[in-house]
Amino acid sequence: RKGSVVITGASSGLGLATAKAVAETGKWHVIMACRDFLKAERAAKSAGITKENATIMHLDLSSLDSVRQFVDTFKRSGRPLDVLVCNAAVYQPTAKEPSYTAEGFELSVGTNHLGHFLLSRLLLDDLNQSDYPSKRLIIVGSITCNTNTLAGNVPPKANLGDLRGLAGGLNELNTSSMIDGGDFDGAKAYKDSKVCNMLTMQEFHRRYHEETGITFASLYPGCIATTGLFREQIPLFRLLFPPFQKYITKGYVSEDEAGKRLGQGLLVILYYTDFDIASCWSWSLTGCFC
Ligand code: NDP
Repeated sequence: RKGSVVITGASSGLGLATAKAVAETGKWHVIMACRDFLKAERAAKSAGITKENATIMHLDLSSLDSVRQFVDTFKRSGRPLDVLVCNAAVYQPTAKEPSYTAEGFELSVGTNHLGHFLLSRLLLDDLNQSDYPSKRLIIVGSITCNTNTLAGNVPPKANLGDLRGLAGGLNELNTSSMIDGGDFDGAKAYKDSKVCNMLTMQEFHRRYHEETGITFASLYPGCIATTGLFREQIPLFRLLFPPFQKYITKGYVSEDEAGKRLGQGLLVILYYTDFDIASCWSWSLTGCFC
């Protein structure tokens, strides 16, 4: 049978490129889990992803109800689940004020971490039941939150503190919209959410790998400087960032290339590896903003 893979946020950027790369093999059926059904349909069509190889299902990670509904729809579809790729993310580096998910959590952590956390928890049994030889749960991380790297030391640094903001509901009405209880900072919220993504995979590995045989991984795709992730950056940044990555750091990765790499599962798992910072200069500098 064909493998069955769910990819969140497959309507653009890395998610779309991965869906395309995986669907093109003819060996996989891709479930494109997207918040905007029509956009996903148009994107799939223009990428040449056919209906035989892909199904679009609605998923808005900024609503935990929507996550539950997606899981319900997926289970009712009767498809097995062999690989889950948690790829979707929001990044609000210039936001002055926090915005919130349907349940009232700060949007970046709420979407990137809490939405994916619930999705992963609810689909763990389905992954476990897969008879596919290398069943996987992959979360797309970011180099910016790894203080092992130069990029991870560019302020504002990721820092979860003592989790007091999270414990207080991640909402300014209660304590704070930031996990560590500090003042809102959109870039930091994104980095914090990615730390949570990576910690989630480590903890899932610790708790479930031996019992289930599922591989849990967090991957950094390289700097895909042209994706919609940077839509909220100032125009000058968006203009200069791609050439900076292409010609100065030479760490630029095209959407197609990153999609192929993720599709092939060939990425280096940076976060579980101690590596020499000097030899990773280009990787690190590349990731300063993403
Ligand atoms: P894009 O903005 O192109 O893709 C993000 C995707 O997430 C979009 O399809 C978007 O949907 C979707 N999304 C956003 N919010 C929600 C939501 N509430 N529910 C469901 N889907 C949602 O960015 P990238 O392709 O660059 O990002 C993909 C991943 O790669 C992210 O996890 C990002 O952190 C990571 N990454 C990217 C880097 C880069 O250089 N670009 C570097 C390091 C990591 P819609 O199409 O409707 O907007």
